[in-house]
Amino acid sequence: MSEQPRLIPTDLPEFDAFWAAYPRHDGKKDARAMWIKIKPGPELVKKILAALEWQRPEMLRSEKCFRPLPETWLRGERWEDEPFHAPPALTVKPVAPTRFTTARPEWTALRCSRCKLAAVDRAGNYCSACRMAEGLTS
Ligand SMILES: [Zn+2]
Repeated sequence: MSEQPRLIPTDLPEFDAFWAAYPRHDGKKDARAMWIKIKPGPELVKKILAALEWQRPEMLRSEKCFRPLPETWLRGERWEDEPFHAPPALTVKPVAPTRFTTARPEWTALRCSRCKLAAVDRAGNYCSACRMAEGLTS
């Protein structure tokens, strides 16, 4: 794939920083157009780059095709996402109650089928954070 450098404005150093930090390099033209539309000021640029710092490793754990396109990420204001995934090493399997245990509701709470951490009210459901992360609305 050959780029066309002369068509690419070079007066967007903040966009370049975003692009460099973003773990998927597809659709640069659309991403740049969205960036120009958002026109992030210095505070927002900081916020965006800070969000990428924690989202980048998570995205890198997914196959490239499952990472949002940079343009989609910007359009969805994904820098507003909140970190919710514990590192895998800290993930603890819920302890199954034995028949000698007085089962309490929190023992039997259903877990989100994506992050396995957040309680959900139906088996197979995603928690609200995971639904947002997957772009599901309800
Ligand atoms: Zn979840």
